[in-house]
Amino acid sequence: MAETDLSDERGLTEEQKLFRESISDWGERNLPLERVIEMNREGHPFPEDIIQGLADLGVIMGPVPEEHGGMGLSWKDQSIIEEQIGYIDPSIATAAGFMAVETGWGFTINRYCNEEIREKYIKPAIRGEKFVGIATTEPKGGSDVAGFESTAEKDGDEWVLNGEKTFISGVEECQKIGGGYWVNVRTGPKIDEAPHKNMTAFFVPIDTDGLEPQEPYDDAGRGSLSTSGFVMNDVRVPEKYMLGEQGKGFYYTMEGFDNARIMIGASAVGVTRRILEEAADYIKERETFGRPLAKYEAIQFPFVERYTEMEASKLMVRKTAEMQDVRYDETGWGEKTGDPKTYKPTEIAKWISMIKYKVPHLAKDTADDAMHWLGAAGYSSEYVFETAWRGVMSYCVGAEGGANIQKIVIGRETLGKDYVPYK
Ligand SMILES: Cc1cc2nc3c(=O)[nH]c(=O)nc-3n(C[C@H](O)[C@H](O)[C@H](O)COP(=O)(O)OP(=O)(O)OC[C@H]3O[C@@H](n4cnc5c(N)ncnc54)[C@H](O)[C@@H]3O)c2cc1C
Repeated sequence: MAETDLSDERGLTEEQKLFRESISDWGERNLPLERVIEMNREGHPFPEDIIQGLADLGVIMGPVPEEHGGMGLSWKDQSIIEEQIGYIDPSIATAAGFMAVETGWGFTINRYCNEEIREKYIKPAIRGEKFVGIATTEPKGGSDVAGFESTAEKDGDEWVLNGEKTFISGVEECQKIGGGYWVNVRTGPKIDEAPHKNMTAFFVPIDTDGLEPQEPYDDAGRGSLSTSGFVMNDVRVPEKYMLGEQGKGFYYTMEGFDNARIMIGASAVGVTRRILEEAADYIKERETFGRPLAKYEAIQFPFVERYTEMEASKLMVRKTAEMQDVRYDETGWGEKTGDPKTYKPTEIAKWISMIKYKVPHLAKDTADDAMHWLGAAGYSSEYVFETAWRGVMSYCVGAEGGANIQKIVIGRETLGKDYVPYK
């Protein structure tokens, strides 16, 4: 780890400090920078020990209630945990990416699944023995979440799914260790003026007959976490594998995005801190014209600007996670209590979109800056910067929703629904 320490643990609870410390110790032993870089470069074999390690630390799906196999942590606790995981895995791949997907979507699957799915998939995933993810994106696009074409038709007490999902995280890993996906399909005709209606979510085990995984893409980054897809040819799932109620899939999906996006914001804070610390070590040491680089304003000022943005982002992520805790506190809705400290889901979604838009971009831009501060060394993959840049870029271009889509949500909540651009 870097010698410069830009962390600030004041204000954390003893339990939160303990989590950070144990993740840090575990990361130093199991994910030194050389291994992160190597995993990003080589990709395979899938480092199962990393998932097992995270599970042993008890941090996968921490907010799942204890009676369902989780730790019953708050989203604020979990965001502080994910921040530290982003710090130790700035490639946002096996540790940080896998954790974000499983925690955000796994938690939400657990809210809407039956006991059988919980026993067979959620609890083992929390133990690091299986993987659960989300499959909503289709070849025609991902931003228009209600615009997909996959279908499900009822046949007796089963549903028959057909269609294709693409750019899906973790399919190869899921095939390897077992698990399944939250899959969105249409269970009725597409209504032009309300395409989100008739959208239903199912849990589909990866080894279901008719589900044909595709070859992974050759991604720019995140080398140790695959992105691919699958075709569904008459995939049969029992009625009881429907998540929640028929026709409500769109709303559950938005909830899942909210949870996953908090994790992404938090991990991007950690990535940014790692980049700044590694860069600080270098610019304090490296001399040109007889002085350390850190003395030159052309280097020092952008450095402190990024640091300031990192601290602001950290506060924003933690505030947003607290809002999500209010959301899951059953007495916490503003409408019910009239308490102005509480928030409606759409207001929370605005804050979540602000962190999803802002923080991965901050991490990417900080990595880009740091490469300039270091000169030729910054361009070398011996350092963390290009690995981090390639990893966080996935969250700028699309993973868990592209930046423009976040801006549409923020605009809707600040200017009003009349200004939604696609209506
Ligand atoms: C590494 C990686 C992992 C992923 N993992 C998963 C996964 O596990 N599960 C899953 O379901 N999906 C996954 N995705 C897909 C992701 O959800 C999509 O990339 C995202 O929803 C955007 O969809 P798209 O890529 O089809 O881009 P498009 O929808 O084709 O959009 C292209 C660009 O146009 C912008 N745009 C679109 N509409 C508008 C508009 N109205 N106004 C302004 N700009 C607009 C978008 O922001 C984007 O920049 C992953 C993507 C990546 C890169």
